[in-house]
Amino acid sequence: MTTIDPADAAPESADNEYHEGGCVCGAIRYRTIGQPANVIVCHCTWCQRRTGSGFAVIPKFTRAQFELLSGDLNRYRSTSDESGRWLDLEFCPNCGTNIGFLQELRPDAHAIDAGTFDDPSWLAPDRQWFRYIFVRSSQAWSALPEGVEHHHGHFLDKEGPGKP
Ligand SMILES: [Zn+2]
Ligand SMILES: [Zn+2]
Repeated sequence: MTTIDPADAAPESADNEYHEGGCVCGAIRYRTIGQPANVIVCHCTWCQRRTGSGFAVIPKFTRAQFELLSGDLNRYRSTSDESGRWLDLEFCPNCGTNIGFLQELRPDAHAIDAGTFDDPSWLAPDRQWFRYIFVRSSQAWSALPEGVEHHHGHFLDKEGPGKP
């Protein structure tokens, strides 16, 4: 698998790229501008539950990089058992599609669920900085690709790189 140096993760030519997305019923439409700081592939149990899947793929934008074009996002505040900090889940009030979340820990950040882009294929390990985290709770049916950057817990934890 091709990976890139983090220093090359956000080519300047891509700074003004717009990408649109939305929910299943079409009420929510949004767009992002520019590149995410990185793309988190999170295997934590919280992401497994909130997505109903094996892991979450969440490009991290700033709030200024996200623009709601139509609809109103509902929010549900979830508080972490471990840190005691909140995360506001954002979803369509009509069809329930997860759009992303906001974090108390990073007030300027806006995480978007990658699968809600109209064409999520613009996100790719050779274009953005992909980081696989909380691989200690990954499921046997969602194995990691070979050679990716991965961490037992969060990449800020002191445990260091993990072994899948
Ligand atoms: Zn909807
Ligand atoms: Zn997670």
